[in-house]
Amino acid sequence: MTIQALLGSIRRRSFATRVAHSSRFVSPRFSNFRISLSTLVLGEHKGGSIEASSLCAVEAAKRLGGDNSVSLLLAGSGPSLQEAAAHAACFHPSISKVLLADSERFTYALAEPWAKLVHLVQQKDSYSHIIAGSGSFGKNVLPRAAALLDVSPITDVTEISGSNLFVRPIYAGNALSTVRYTGSNPCMLTIRATSFPTGMAPASVSNDKCIEKIDLSAFNEDDADGKSRYVSISSQDTERPDLANARIVVTGGRGLKSAENFKMIEKLAEKLGAAVGATRAAVDAGFVPNELQVGQTGKIVAPELYMAFGVSGAIQHLAGIRDSKVIVAVNKDADAPIFQVMIKSLSHTHPIVMLSSFHVPVADYGLVGDLFEIIPELLEKLPEKK
Ligand SMILES: Cc1cc2nc3c(=O)[nH]c(=O)nc-3n(C[C@H](O)[C@H](O)[C@H](O)COP(=O)(O)OP(=O)(O)OC[C@H]3O[C@@H](n4cnc5c(N)ncnc54)[C@H](O)[C@@H]3O)c2cc1C
Repeated sequence: MTIQALLGSIRRRSFATRVAHSSRFVSPRFSNFRISLSTLVLGEHKGGSIEASSLCAVEAAKRLGGDNSVSLLLAGSGPSLQEAAAHAACFHPSISKVLLADSERFTYALAEPWAKLVHLVQQKDSYSHIIAGSGSFGKNVLPRAAALLDVSPITDVTEISGSNLFVRPIYAGNALSTVRYTGSNPCMLTIRATSFPTGMAPASVSNDKCIEKIDLSAFNEDDADGKSRYVSISSQDTERPDLANARIVVTGGRGLKSAENFKMIEKLAEKLGAAVGATRAAVDAGFVPNELQVGQTGKIVAPELYMAFGVSGAIQHLAGIRDSKVIVAVNKDADAPIFQVMIKSLSHTHPIVMLSSFHVPVADYGLVGDLFEIIPELLEKLPEKK
């Protein structure tokens, strides 16, 4: 296979196996038990704009049912909150209402005051669903709010099949489980942003009428004093695209051998206008900071092109890349799982239980070779980024 073929056309490949469709959980008895739907989406904003993951959560909310009215909850302080509200209102009619909690308590998105806020809003408006993106913000706030509301959240949803029927990955993304929510309202979800498009084109005119300020007088002063407090925020000063939303991701694994060698990955990413990713082994070895880790315990990515160099393809890594459109792998070991994983399956044909196994391709394009020869060749052949 040639170097040129590595950058070839798009072919989608999915290696998760759908396993759990238990009829016990999908009885039609429950299918229409909610008549009217209303959803609260917990919105994250930065620099006056709504984060892409929150717009994906709005898109997910729309998929719960046709007559769903979607409210977006924004909290913070200062002019950037107002700007974010106006930005959200632009997305009308998908968002019917923008709820604003304007207070210095929410300047930093700490879980305790946010969870209390969600509780307060839910007590007043009784939403049927509450949704957040499953990034750090949603994973931090939503379970805490669910505990206050005494319901069990469903996390990391990748597909919405009805107002109470959801698909989510299990076993590090090796299987998809279909879950029916049978608890009381609200049904609380975190959704995997890479599985839902940001969807909506902004309307040309902002609809200010749908912005509503929340009365925080019932919010006790004590409520802001949680178990956590803001200390500082630090992030890498880089012009590269954000890893979670990048169109192209170039990832390096332990095969790079050192932090110095990892700079080749950074150079390649720069030429391609790509984000840099890393395996946990590369992060643990100190080649790059852990915010670049991709996988089950790192970031979930879904780029158009995912390039993996010196990555074996451990199942925990694959869990973070399964929605990538094209996967390209370079590894000197032809038997590396990044080229193909083996799936074992048990089939029950009474009275015999049979164990069968089959290989599922992971990489759409695989090159068996030494990355220390291939990356310099790619760097030489790729044009400079304009
Ligand atoms: C609970 C749990 C959670 C985890 N979460 C994550 C996660 O989120 N993300 C993650 O990545 N891992 C995660 N892991 C770790 C995971 O199991 C693997 O250990 C890790 O992904 C391996 O990283 P690697 O592929 O870089 O290293 P290795 O498995 O050591 O593979 C290195 C590869 O480089 C190849 N190579 C070496 N030299 C060259 C060369 N010169 N040219 C080309 N190829 C070369 C080798 O053939 C090999 O295949 C998790 C593990 C656990 C138990």
